[in-house]
Amino acid sequence: MTHTTYLGFPRIGCRRELKRALENYWRDGDAAPLLDTARSLRQRHWQLAGEAGIQTVAANDFSLYDHVLDTAVLFDAVPARYRPLLQNDPLAGYFAMARGNRELHALEMTKWLDTNYHYIVPELQAGQRFQLGTNKPLAEWLEARALGLDARPVILGPVSFLRLSKTVDGSDALNLLDALVPAYIELLEQLAEAGVAWVQLDEPCLVQDLDEATRHAYIAAYSALAVGPSPKRLLATYFGGLGDNLALATSLPIDGLHIDLVRAPEQLDGVLSALPKHCVLSAGVVDGRNIWLSDPARVTPQLQKIAAARGTDQLWLSPSCSLLHTPFDATQETALPAQLRSWLSFAQQKLEEIQHYAKALDGDANAKASLEQQLAVIAARKQAQGVLRSEVRARVNGLSPQATQRRSGLAHRRRVQAEVLALPPLPTTTIGSFPQTDTLRHARAEHRAERIDDQAYDSVLREEIERVIRFQEHIGLDVLVHGEPERNDMVEYFGEQLEGFAFTRHGWVQSYGSRCVKPPIIWGDVSRPQAMTVDWSRYAQSLTDKPVKGMLTGPVTVLQWSFVRDDLPREQVCLQLALALRDEVHDLEHAGIRVIQIDEPALREGLPIRHAEHTAYLDWAVRCFRITAGGTSDSTQIHTHMCYSEFNDIIEAVAALDADVISIESSRSRMELLQAFEEFRYPGSIGPGVYDIHSPRVPSQQEMVDLLERALTVLEPAQLWVNPDCGLKTRGWKETEPALVAMVNAARELRAAI
Ligand code: GLN
Ligand code: ZN
Repeated sequence: MTHTTYLGFPRIGCRRELKRALENYWRDGDAAPLLDTARSLRQRHWQLAGEAGIQTVAANDFSLYDHVLDTAVLFDAVPARYRPLLQNDPLAGYFAMARGNRELHALEMTKWLDTNYHYIVPELQAGQRFQLGTNKPLAEWLEARALGLDARPVILGPVSFLRLSKTVDGSDALNLLDALVPAYIELLEQLAEAGVAWVQLDEPCLVQDLDEATRHAYIAAYSALAVGPSPKRLLATYFGGLGDNLALATSLPIDGLHIDLVRAPEQLDGVLSALPKHCVLSAGVVDGRNIWLSDPARVTPQLQKIAAARGTDQLWLSPSCSLLHTPFDATQETALPAQLRSWLSFAQQKLEEIQHYAKALDGDANAKASLEQQLAVIAARKQAQGVLRSEVRARVNGLSPQATQRRSGLAHRRRVQAEVLALPPLPTTTIGSFPQTDTLRHARAEHRAERIDDQAYDSVLREEIERVIRFQEHIGLDVLVHGEPERNDMVEYFGEQLEGFAFTRHGWVQSYGSRCVKPPIIWGDVSRPQAMTVDWSRYAQSLTDKPVKGMLTGPVTVLQWSFVRDDLPREQVCLQLALALRDEVHDLEHAGIRVIQIDEPALREGLPIRHAEHTAYLDWAVRCFRITAGGTSDSTQIHTHMCYSEFNDIIEAVAALDADVISIESSRSRMELLQAFEEFRYPGSIGPGVYDIHSPRVPSQQEMVDLLERALTVLEPAQLWVNPDCGLKTRGWKETEPALVAMVNAARELRAAI
């Protein structure tokens, strides 16, 4: 009999109940309602899994904020500065680590592998000690048992935990393995004593390129865990294939192995021959990273192959990874066209899918019938109007190599642009958005609810644009922006105006803590029925003689922050986006816009987990950007923007974008990132952010002069632009005004000096 399970469930709740409860707690400090909500969410999610027919539910997949932070707290890997608070008030201490408080700044946050989920990075140091603290996995297992469920606690494995942590002293976190493993052993002992049958140890790092030291760490850690009393251990891998770590993973003393057969179907044969027969194979066959109903024509043959090779007694079926990365329930999306809705599968539906596959494999006629139905839905999706549009395909297929080219090289363009734009040295600009005021938010909400008409909304936006333009003129910025008051979100705004996109109402996915995102769905071929930003930019430009930057979100970022169709390679979808945006660039140019910024803040996060795949990704990502900007005249200055500071491994690709100007995050890293640009002899102009817009603090003129002077030690004066780190939409006018005034003055001070 095939067994069904899942690696983890969304925590935030069907209606983002956890978000609300967290925000209330952060406001009032009343813990009881938060803990109540958390408990009832866990129970409801277990109940839903039960109703879907899932045999083993996960426990400890829930977290009040983040599971990596939970792991750090579980093993007492807590930096000294949080300890007094944590001992006094564990919940306050926990949230101080997660998000800081008045006295303590938070731990760092970074992306969980290649997802858009951010985890809290544990902060370790040489000589660090670990000990088992409050046994949250056991507590949540007991909670499930009280409901009559035999759950499987989920715990981040020791090697991934160390690899995903950072050390403050530059030491190698893996050196701490010997100190950490005894705490894991004690945890497993306590679980075994309580009667826990299985534990899930997540080791996503097994799908990364590993060095010898990490491989040894796996052997050492898992050999040690196998000695004492322990529940059976399921080693969970996901987001990619084991690849060259296959022999390592299958040689570890484990009782089961979970593999991702969506991202890496090619690993099945290898796993079938390497995994010892007594081991459970947990087959991740339904995509935990996307929202589409799975294709039985892909899944059923995989399952039959497994069944033929090793029977079904040691076979578990599961989504490919934790369902943390999918929204909750597709049946809630009643505002979507019924046909589109029928193609969707969110967390709840994915559990049902798993159940159908398992039953069908065991010969159940009803389940087989529902898979037949699913096949029909997939077939209908292929034929549905808008999925494949021949004019869009023909345009992509007809792309010539010429499409990626500007008319002349960078050096020539720089001369032409200098003449046309006549900017001073160290030109000042901003990244695009200005503060989203309450008035704007209110007007947008009223407009959405149809309580004010288009015209009234329009005039609110126009007034705001005029105010922003006058302000920028007044303080003396050189390249102005219209301020993006019309945009709710930098991807949604474009998606709403493009063919091939759909938007959910409740399709929220946790990004970090209480923060959720609602990615658009790209379901069909993408095209641009009409200009999207031209009227706003033209209007803004009509108000001033200074150049106003047109502002677009680049194709890679739109792709990266959407749920992308699974019936076309990502590269092809990105090319379609690039062509739609290219038309917008040309329309802006024709409307007299002389500077156009194409934001690509997500270029880097699209990097595949394995290094061997980086080049292929960067090749098409760069190509798509270049197609967007291609064909513009030499006098049109193309900017791009990326809000991060690690450029070492992508600097060549960034240069290959062939943008005239790039703005980047760098105030927090104190311009360190410029080294990559210097070593590479980056040819274009660079605006390294001099003002951290993530902080409400107003930087002084002197601070910004210092940063610019640092930048000038590695950049030519003619290369340097002066701008904040990112857009100002999350800031208030109160900080924005003095900060930008100081920034403009800093540029003036330095101009006089160079
Ligand atoms: N132009 C956008 C803004 O200023 C860029 C946002 C981003 O980089 N994430 O808001
Ligand atoms: Zn940014």
